[in-house]
Amino acid sequence: MEGKKCPKCGSEDILNGSLSSPYGFTFTPNSQDRLFKKSSFILCSACKDCGAVFDFTLSDQPNKLTNR
Ligand SMILES: [Zn+2]
Repeated sequence: MEGKKCPKCGSEDILNGSLSSPYGFTFTPNSQDRLFKKSSFILCSACKDCGAVFDFTLSDQPNKLTNR
């Protein structure tokens, strides 16, 4: 993506990726009361210069997680 800057050092050398583990990290809103909760994977960016990880973003539209 263009125009992204590291919030820590100001570098524009940014890597885009996602937050994951062998089991997969997902974000699940607490407000859901359904049995099978909807969740979203998490995208993020990392600075190539200082290693700061920032710009955590849900991979799905947030309103998809709350619509019933
Ligand atoms: Zn940086």
